[in-house]
Amino acid sequence: MPTFFQPTYRQARQQFLRAAAEQPLNTWQTARIHPLKGCEDEELALDALWLGPRDAEHLLVVQSATHGVEGFAGSAVQAALLNQKVSLPNDTALLLLHAMNPWGFSFQRRVDEQGIDLNRNFVDFTRLPENPGYAELASALIPASWSPKALEVADQQLEAYRQQYGETAYEVAVSGGQYTHPEGLFYGGQAPSWSRLQLQALAEELELEQRKAVAILDVHTGLGDYAVGEVICDHPPGSQGVRWARRWYGEAVTEPLLGTSSSVPKQGLIDFFWHELLPERCSFVTLEFGTGSTPQLFHVLRGDHWLAQQPLSSVDSVQSLAIQQALLEHFCPAASDWRKAVIAQGLQRIDQALKGLAEW
Ligand SMILES: [Zn+2]
Repeated sequence: MPTFFQPTYRQARQQFLRAAAEQPLNTWQTARIHPLKGCEDEELALDALWLGPRDAEHLLVVQSATHGVEGFAGSAVQAALLNQKVSLPNDTALLLLHAMNPWGFSFQRRVDEQGIDLNRNFVDFTRLPENPGYAELASALIPASWSPKALEVADQQLEAYRQQYGETAYEVAVSGGQYTHPEGLFYGGQAPSWSRLQLQALAEELELEQRKAVAILDVHTGLGDYAVGEVICDHPPGSQGVRWARRWYGEAVTEPLLGTSSSVPKQGLIDFFWHELLPERCSFVTLEFGTGSTPQLFHVLRGDHWLAQQPLSSVDSVQSLAIQQALLEHFCPAASDWRKAVIAQGLQRIDQALKGLAEW
């Protein structure tokens, strides 16, 4: 059986487009072209594919690469789905969004070309959230030097904060989202990103707000237990979105707002776009495949952001390669057991969502 995990964005996109062309249920397709080229000088695009009736009242949306480099897994799940015989319940359509952040996918970074974390970008920019914890930790998170000695000092500062405020407060400060340090981690930007604008335009073009019941699965990697696809639901506790998620996906559903998830509550999630577009008519979940620990996640991201800030001529090539490889291995482990688990659980959750929509 093919793995569907491709080594580059270019090959992942080719695989997606080939499968889309051969898909009998394909009723509409578009490519929203990014203004920049990729790392192989290839075209970058957010590709959208609609399967089934254009006017369906029920819809399943599967998103990949909201966090660029995490797209290897999400793209593989979409390709695996397209390579099997897709059958849809009555009055139901499937929308695949391939590479929400194609620049990050191609350059193997989690952020976009502006350093923006798309999953912190869905805020009201006239009322930006504050994150004083991040400001306090910023210089320790991205130290001036990446030498063992400099890192030791920086790590001690982070550990002191963690000891003082506790693990959850520490993770919220680091990863909850910040709008003050463009070179830093989990930066939400100062304006809607390219990807956000494309999603808004697609939603309008496809009249998504007219649909009666919509399930959205956004495939991510890098947080939580190894090879476990956690179904994270950021709808308000007790709301329709959570009720549907529990009914469809069962006990696997976790809620950051209740403290039952590997994910802490966050600002500017892409979830909020869908919540607002389809109030009481959608259930958005993040399907998050764990790979390593949270400290490891923060460490590889710190290295990546430190590296991105260095002038090219000043960086040792061995060190820079090691940082890039550690990042890739964290977000897309090479191990075949992990990759098989991603495909199997991804397809299982898609199947559950379609059954749930049919039942509604
Ligand atoms: Zn992610």
